[in-house]
Amino acid sequence: MHIEELTRKASLDFLAGSRLGHLACANNGHPYITPCYFAYHDQYIYSFSTAGKKIEWLRTNPLACLQVDEIASFQEWTSVIVFGRYEELIKTDKSQEARELAFKLLQQHEFWWEPGYTRTVLHGAARPLDPVYYRLSIDEISGHRATPN
Ligand SMILES: Cc1cc2nc3c(=O)[nH]c(=O)nc-3n(C[C@H](O)[C@H](O)[C@H](O)COP(=O)(O)OP(=O)(O)OC[C@H]3O[C@@H](n4cnc5c(N)ncnc54)[C@H](O)[C@@H]3O)c2cc1C
Repeated sequence: MHIEELTRKASLDFLAGSRLGHLACANNGHPYITPCYFAYHDQYIYSFSTAGKKIEWLRTNPLACLQVDEIASFQEWTSVIVFGRYEELIKTDKSQEARELAFKLLQQHEFWWEPGYTRTVLHGAARPLDPVYYRLSIDEISGHRATPN
């Protein structure tokens, strides 16, 4: 197996063709990682969620990391890691354009909202469903691709 580094452009192209990643955040030195669907557009990662632990932590500490991969086999895979900053697209004039763009990009796939906006019962109580659109800046990106020899 051979592993090569992807250029920034190749890494961004890979993100543009991907939908599912793992989003990491941290609070008080504790890491927390969850799967999430996203859409890449012009140097930003757009996603949708509801307020919960992940959003609470990102509001406290906006430094985030997203990992995305495509695995064909043990020897054939691509993995991209983004270091970025969380920006909540709240309902204000300033964020309106980015919020509409997030909706436009994400709604291209059927049931795009469902994983983030589903009644969840934890410890016997339903979690409140407060929709949150957000984006991550791409401050640093790296990509690795493995191919068989
Ligand atoms: C394939 C896939 C795609 C998803 N896409 C999205 C998406 O686009 N947007 C989105 O908001 N959510 C998505 N989810 C759900 C997501 O992983 C979280 O479960 C959800 O966002 C709630 O996170 P939270 O931090 O608000 O949870 P909270 O309800 O605040 O978490 C409370 C506790 O529940 C536990 N927990 C939370 N999520 C999970 C989990 N997935 N697995 C195990 N334990 C968990 C943790 O221990 C956490 O401390 C997706 C899940 C999967 C499997």
